[in-house]
Amino acid sequence: MTNSDTCFPDQSAPQLKDYYCPFCNHKLFRGDVKEFKMVCQECNRLVDSNNLPSETEEQEKEA
Ligand SMILES: [Zn+2]
Repeated sequence: MTNSDTCFPDQSAPQLKDYYCPFCNHKLFRGDVKEFKMVCQECNRLVDSNNLPSETEEQEKEA
């Protein structure tokens, strides 16, 4: 019962990132996109990737 050559998932899949709602932290989707715009199913707010607070930006604010 070692017939596993057809059971392996696609290992060449690109690295996928989990996207979370910035308002309620609900997991929106998993994918590899630069921009997205969608309504969170949890809090019904529009999540726009262009309006997301950048995590790295705030840390570099120190002058
Ligand atoms: Zn939400």
